Amino acid sequence: MKIINPATEEVLAVLQDDTADSLAAKFDRLAAAQSSWAAEPLSVRIGVMERFMVLLEQDKSTLAATLTAEMGKPLTQALNEIKGAIARIKWLSGHAAKYLADERMDDGGGTLEERISYEPLGVVCNISAWNYPYLVGVNVFVPALLAGNAVLYKPSEFTTNTGLRIAELLKAAGVPEEVFQVAIGAGDVGKHLLGLSFDGYFFTGSYATGRYIHEQVASKLVPCQLELGGKDPIYVTDDVQDVAAVAAATADGAFYNNGQSCCSVERIYVHKTIYDAYVAAFVEQVKAWKIGDPTTEEDVYFGPLARKDQLSVLATQVADAVEKGATLLTGGKQLEGRGYYFEPTVLVNVNHDMLVMKAESFGPIIGIMQVDNDEEAVALMQDTAYGLTAGVYTPDGERATSILRRMDVGSAYWNCCDRVSAALPWSGRRHSGIGVTLSHQGIRAFTKTKAWHLRG
Ligand code: NAD
Repeated sequence: MKIINPATEEVLAVLQDDTADSLAAKFDRLAAAQSSWAAEPLSVRIGVMERFMVLLEQDKSTLAATLTAEMGKPLTQALNEIKGAIARIKWLSGHAAKYLADERMDDGGGTLEERISYEPLGVVCNISAWNYPYLVGVNVFVPALLAGNAVLYKPSEFTTNTGLRIAELLKAAGVPEEVFQVAIGAGDVGKHLLGLSFDGYFFTGSYATGRYIHEQVASKLVPCQLELGGKDPIYVTDDVQDVAAVAAATADGAFYNNGQSCCSVERIYVHKTIYDAYVAAFVEQVKAWKIGDPTTEEDVYFGPLARKDQLSVLATQVADAVEKGATLLTGGKQLEGRGYYFEPTVLVNVNHDMLVMKAESFGPIIGIMQVDNDEEAVALMQDTAYGLTAGVYTPDGERATSILRRMDVGSAYWNCCDRVSAALPWSGRRHSGIGVTLSHQGIRAFTKTKAWHLRG
């Protein structure tokens, strides 16, 4: 398997893919080692995570450079991701003792005690994505290891160097090698994993792959969590005071990480009274950001896309929109020359017959649509198969809350967007997935409960 630098198209590394046999051997090693890992006191596993954080902090510059080289995000964004991952590990390790401890539910007046205990699932499979390999990886393997599971981690084929570095640091921090194994390869290697007897499947990636995995492992009757894509809307209301500031903040929500975030803003609805001012400020902000090679140039906001095949997905969405009457205000095509660069693209006069307002773009392209009132905005925001996040910009908290209550989404944003908190459950609805990571629920997601009925 070749790892390509998307900025230069140079080969960064050639790695040997795992085979069905090597994956089965890794699974066996994990299964043999899991119970002794689980038997360690929780404080030992928390101590390992504390050392892992120290190592991430120490190595963050080289880790960021590796990530930037293989997936194209600017160095500052790679560093932000690693810092964000450390903060998440801190929250998860800091709360593990509280949420993994036995819970006493009822003392039954002294004769019967009722308790819940949280036991590890066993050996879990984590098939991961490339867009935030530290963040989406940490969401799964950190609480899984803390709870006493062994983990087979398959990084994306586009960020395998990062995945291998993560494994090295976990080992150096004290995770036994037999307890955390890496699977190397693309989708076909992922498919092999579905045939092994894991005690849980934790997937981050696209709806199409997630649905396939769910179908394939259904008969095992083990937990299968899917963190999938989105078509996340925001609505900017007429009472917004500083329209330019909201336009700049929401442009960042749409285009940070080149729009390759699961919770990137993917559709924007703006009240007609402020629409012109908002669009002008939005385009001005987008044009101010620099495109360039993130490995050699400073102050780059837009690097290349991580995946070559996404270039044609975006070009198709632009062509479809323009053919159906949209106006292109800026961008619209691939940059000439080496690298997988796509110009940041803003489309107006869009509608819901267009792919750009319905299908996940996962790139630097956005449609902005004018609306007459809150009812129209709500109907359009809800017109999607996805349900990851939705946001409303208004100074009026009651107005925002009443709109957000009507959204069938896992995360609701008032005057913010494109954010994830370790303390809050991260979950999608409908085509955005099932299950929860982060928060106390995301710690317990890697456990199975036992109910204790104790009559002494
Ligand atoms: P992808 O579905 O192409 O790949 C994800 C992983 O699945 C990779 O490791 C890949 O090798 C593996 N895979 C591919 N085919 C497989 C198969 N048939 N069986 C088993 N494994 C297989 O997704 P991607 O391009 O890596 O990630 C982008 C998608 O991920 C976007 O849709 C994005 O919205 C979503 N995402 C969601 C979240 C979230 O938290 N909800 C976070 C990050 C990314």
